[in-house]
Formats: sequence, structure tokens, C-alpha cells
Amino acid sequence: MGMGQSFSSTLLRQELEKIFVSQQKNQQGHPATYIPELAKANRDHFSLALVTTQGEVLAFGDKEVRFTMQSTSKPFLYSLALKTKGPEFVHSKVGVEPTGEAFNSIIELEEKSHRPFNPMINSGAIATTSLIAGVTTDEKFLAIQKHFQELAGKPLDLDEKVYLSEKATAHRNRAISYLMKYFNVLEEDIEETLDVYFRQCSLLVTTVDLAMMAATLANKGRQPQAGKQVLSPEEVSRTLSLMFTCGMYDSAGEWAFNVGLPAKSGVSGAVFAVVPGKFGIAGFSPNIDEKGHSYRVSEAIKEFSKILNLSIFS
Ligand code: GLN
Repeated sequence: MGMGQSFSSTLLRQELEKIFVSQQKNQQGHPATYIPELAKANRDHFSLALVTTQGEVLAFGDKEVRFTMQSTSKPFLYSLALKTKGPEFVHSKVGVEPTGEAFNSIIELEEKSHRPFNPMINSGAIATTSLIAGVTTDEKFLAIQKHFQELAGKPLDLDEKVYLSEKATAHRNRAISYLMKYFNVLEEDIEETLDVYFRQCSLLVTTVDLAMMAATLANKGRQPQAGKQVLSPEEVSRTLSLMFTCGMYDSAGEWAFNVGLPAKSGVSGAVFAVVPGKFGIAGFSPNIDEKGHSYRVSEAIKEFSKILNLSIFS
């Protein structure tokens, strides 16, 4: 099926359910352990959800279970930075090149500018966090939370335990931040910026919420159910292109090749992808691979894309 064709909800439901059932048997991977609280995740949890640009919702599995967004927040955070500061200013602080490195790589700064390579990796997202408007950390966090809530169309809570667990153990993210501070890429206070970054990583969503946020991107920035234009089409296209080239880190190339969709993963076991003009798809299963992507959900989205020929180049 090519780009111009639309899919019946019966077809989408049938194919997604088949894939859900087959991936349920997949026991590969383990929950992330470097954030101690994430290691406690229930390995059996698994859900998949799809939301169309018309606002229709399909969901399978543990659809009530909430999980922290972790890096799936990065595209949405970036989109708020664009909205707040505009693309020129944002990209004076953060680049647009993929790294071929892990999400938490220390060598994440460009050689001459010392900008982080892109906003989809930790260094770039920490730099992006520092661009969000607000005098206090609370004001900045609330601005991010409000933006995510508009995309999801509902209130989103903070997981205090995961937030505090990450804050207490984030030595690597601190190291990256000190380096950015040294190069003046990070102009704000390090601990304050990290505090906002950790909090927005620990916002809680269900797969339906995440698929709704993805559907807003699929719908050129208009939230499919509320009808509100949350982002401009330009902000969305910048966000999607960075998700396409950088969203899956050092497997972004393979993902582009095999799945062909802009996507983003998080170490909690969440992954989402966007089929522009059609739908957003998201999943959650805490068993991740060595690159930080959920095994079941990555496989599910890959399979779904193959069966329905969803690649943006198809
Ligand atoms: N909060 C996590 C971190 O900064 C997010 C990483 C991820 O989901 N890949 O390490």
C-alpha cells in the first residue's frame, strides 16, 4: 500500500492484534538497571496502541499501565524549545547530525561548535531543557508538562520515585552537563537544568497517551481529539526529520532502512513511531536491548511497517 492510500480500522486492528499476540512470546531483553527504580519494572507488561489522525484509538494488552517517558520525551521537548526560542536560536545550541553513538555517549559534542550533535540524545536534550522559558525550575517543568498534556489531551503525572532515583544516580549525565557548561553551550545552572530534565523524563504516560502524542505529530501538530493546533507544521516537520535520523541513536540507520518511519525510544521500554498523515503508534514493554530499545515493541513496529508497507519511501 502506498502513501496515498488509507487503511481501514478493521485492517489496522487485525494486523496489530496478530503482531501483539506473536510478540507476547518474545522474552528477550531486561529492564534498564542504571536507573535503580526502572529495574523494578514488571517484565510481563506489554501494550501496543495506535491513534489515527481522526482520533480513533486501537489498543492491546496492558493499556492502563503507566510508565515514565524517558527519552520518548525528547522530540516533544525539542518541539517546545522550537516554539519558545525559534529554530535559529535552538540550533545555535544544538546540532542536527546523527552520532552513530549511544544515547548517553560522552563524545556527544561537535568538534568546532561544541554543540551537542542533536536533540534526541541526552546531551542535546539537556541543552534543549535549558532553553525552556521560566525563571524557576518549577516554572520550566510546568511549561514542559503543559505542552506534553496538550499533545496527549489529558493531565500527566510525575513519577516521583523514578525521578528521584535518576537524580541520585545520574553521574554520567552530570559529566556531560559539566562539559557543556565548560563550553558555554549550557548557560543555565547545571543542577537546575538537570532537575527539570529528570522530571520531564519521569512524566507518566500510557501507550494510548504516547500514541496520541505521536498522532498529533502525524496530524501536522493538530491534536486529533481536542482539535487544537499545538505545534505548527514546520515545527512538526523539523521534529520528525530529527526523529528519523537520530531518534533510534546508533540503530537509526538500520531503523530507517527496515522500518522507514520517524521514531523514538526510551529506556523505560517505550517506543513510538509516526506515519505522517495517518497515525501514531506506540508500545511499552520494559525488556530492552543493549541500545536501549524495547525488544517487543521494536519488533512489533518493524513487523507492522513491513506488513502494511508503511515506510515513508514506499
Ligand atoms: N532519563 C534517561 C537518561 O537520561 C533517558 C535515556 C533514554 O531513555 N534513552 O539516561
